[in-house]
Amino acid sequence: MDAWLHEGHTKGYTVSWRLRDVIHVEKTPYQELAIVDTYEWGKALVLDGCIQTTEVDEFIYHEMITHVAMMAHPEPKRVLIIGGGDGGVLREVLRYDSVVAADLVEIDARVVENCQIYLPEIACGFSDSRANIIIEDGLQYVKKPERKYDVVIVDSSDPVGPAVELFGAAFYQDVCAIMEEDGIMVAQAESPLFFRDTFVQVFLNMRQVFPIARVYLTSVPTYVSGYWAFGVGSKKYRPEEVAEGRRTVGGLKWYTPDLHRAAFVLPRSVKESLETAAEAR
Ligand code: SAM
Repeated sequence: MDAWLHEGHTKGYTVSWRLRDVIHVEKTPYQELAIVDTYEWGKALVLDGCIQTTEVDEFIYHEMITHVAMMAHPEPKRVLIIGGGDGGVLREVLRYDSVVAADLVEIDARVVENCQIYLPEIACGFSDSRANIIIEDGLQYVKKPERKYDVVIVDSSDPVGPAVELFGAAFYQDVCAIMEEDGIMVAQAESPLFFRDTFVQVFLNMRQVFPIARVYLTSVPTYVSGYWAFGVGSKKYRPEEVAEGRRTVGGLKWYTPDLHRAAFVLPRSVKESLETAAEAR
């Protein structure tokens, strides 16, 4: 079989994945979902034609979106994950013994169910007794949450369809209201090279809501341009620093405290685009 998945990133830029197998395809109430087996990156979750996570490089994204916030907070106990239906962020959050409750709010139950069947190493945290899976629109959940949170992680798909408002200041304001007085939130902020407007807007929206707002970068080979950004909003702690006395949890393959600090050192043009936008605001 010589099948390929062609993922159109921009009008002039497409990435093609050679497929070993198309394992499962379905139309859910929210999006087209596929599980494919690729030659280079193992099995992958695809939503509306966009690669969301692959077996080969998922650990980079999941470790960097999770451990920066979890290690900047001195003792995170209650964690909220918005989106993240593949379970990768949940797996990383549950590495912390301090965590007593991890609530995952995913809009599409079929993402959770298919990842449990086809991507068990990523979805392994769903059976943990501390995990609480809530199938609901994250925009609604944060208006009447079950509890307050130390850390909130927004692992959403791209700003299309149900995820558009997850990048907005109104949503960040609602999240801020359900965080503890020393809470930290992190959200995926797209590619600083290919989706610069979204990236800058995430920073400006967080800056509008939180006393401390930052962005940090990592490389996710299977994402647009391989260069990915995260926005952080903090009520008290400096997210670029590892909280005093924190010890790195076991089983990690990418995150280190040095990489944590380095991730906040921004390339000149990226830094300038944020400064220019902030001055213009
Ligand atoms: N890491 C991936 C990325 O950066 O593109 C995202 C992975 S995760 C699978 C994204 C999840 O967000 C999807 O399962 C999608 O259904 C979910 N999602 C999108 N909009 C949502 C909303 N409003 N509330 C809750 N979950 C949402």
